[in-house]
Amino acid sequence: MSTDLISMQDPRSQYPGPPSSIEIQSDPGIETRMSEKPDCGELSYKGSGRLASRKALLTGADSGIGRAAAIAFAREGADVAICYLPEEQEDAEEVAKYIRDAGRKAVLLPGDVSQENFCEQLVADAVDRLGGLDILVNNAGKMGKTGGLLDTTTERFDSLMKTNIYSMFWITKAAVPHLKPGSSIINTTSIQGFEPSGYIFDYAITKAAIANFTKGLKEALMEEHGIRINAIAPGPIWTPLQEADGDKKKLKKLGENTPYKRPGQPVELAPVYVLLASQEGSYITGEIYGVTGGLGII
Ligand code: NAD
Ligand code: MG
Repeated sequence: MSTDLISMQDPRSQYPGPPSSIEIQSDPGIETRMSEKPDCGELSYKGSGRLASRKALLTGADSGIGRAAAIAFAREGADVAICYLPEEQEDAEEVAKYIRDAGRKAVLLPGDVSQENFCEQLVADAVDRLGGLDILVNNAGKMGKTGGLLDTTTERFDSLMKTNIYSMFWITKAAVPHLKPGSSIINTTSIQGFEPSGYIFDYAITKAAIANFTKGLKEALMEEHGIRINAIAPGPIWTPLQEADGDKKKLKKLGENTPYKRPGQPVELAPVYVLLASQEGSYITGEIYGVTGGLGII
């Protein structure tokens, strides 16, 4: 893990190439079980008060990209509630420790976002325990793989839709009445929403829907509520999602197709989540930010 995000260095060699040690896990992947740990900014991210006294709820924030955003938000001065699956308690407790070490309040809210009742309760609990809500990061998602159209079961298709897109609808709908003008919603989409791969074509549909959801709501959320909504589209990033029901052969080449010849690390996305959450992003809404290692989203 890097300890220095600030000094000038060659971004090609800043992090390792494709993972050399891959262990396919069942879903959800657990970060503490990965033999090659992603860099979520634990040792490196330094805050500068950009989110002082904000109250943030992030889903899927025990690990990977959400963990990097949660650590960054806390070091920028926010109190942070994180949602994750009960099986991920160990990962979540590590994140809570980093949040508390930053001097901020950590709220742990385990549960399944593919359930409407849980999503409503999640927002209510976050508002209650944080004492309000200013930032919502809809980041939870599942991927796995299919053998193509004929191999895709209704069960998998349904579960992807419920987890990746219905949850965003339910959580955002429950959160908006609590968000004051100046609040920010950030959704995690993917390069897959723009350049879909056949072996995860169903996952890619959910990511295209997330980008569309973001653009579709930008007008009403700003005009009626003064709320910004944006999305971040990561490229190939080294996280537990990759090992969860993943494809070992493909993972051995993760990021090799980028001009960097390496995957991104979760911490390399954190500054974009912070910008979009902060008041410095005041004129940014309805945008999709690619962090793709040069692969691009258009
Ligand atoms: P990750 O496994 O660390 O995070 C995904 C999280 O989603 C899990 O930690 C889990 O807590 C949560 N989640 C999944 N199903 C859930 C459920 N039913 N209820 C509650 N929480 C649930 O992996 P990540 O790569 O950091 O993924 C974060 C987001 O980034 C996902 O939306 C993913 O689609 C997106 N993304 C990842 C990549 C990549 O290369 N890793 C690329 C593009 C987009
Ligand atoms: Mg996780």
